[in-house]
Amino acid sequence: MSRHHAPICASSGKVRFREPKDIKRALRRADQDRSRARLNDVACSRREIESYSCSDCNGWHLTSQQARPVRLTPVARPILRTPGPAADAMRRMASATGFTVAAA
Ligand SMILES: [Zn+2]
Repeated sequence: MSRHHAPICASSGKVRFREPKDIKRALRRADQDRSRARLNDVACSRREIESYSCSDCNGWHLTSQQARPVRLTPVARPILRTPGPAADAMRRMASATGFTVAAA
């Protein structure tokens, strides 16, 4: 991974982000990594979906936990892991949003 220069929070051991805009970029990256992994049908370890401010380092961290207790509306859509129409649609969406999808 390319995190070698990122500061680490002593208290949480997580990568510390200074500003919300850094968090946004990191979340977008995680999202892209997940999409790419899905397109290539490989496992992805990126699980970051939320951010929170850390009172110990005064920075921000990513977490795979929902920030708030989830108010459960039934989740209707199972996560599609098989390539097919969905993968195709995502590939189209990906090219529309401008990030490149590595060919497998
Ligand atoms: Zn911290």
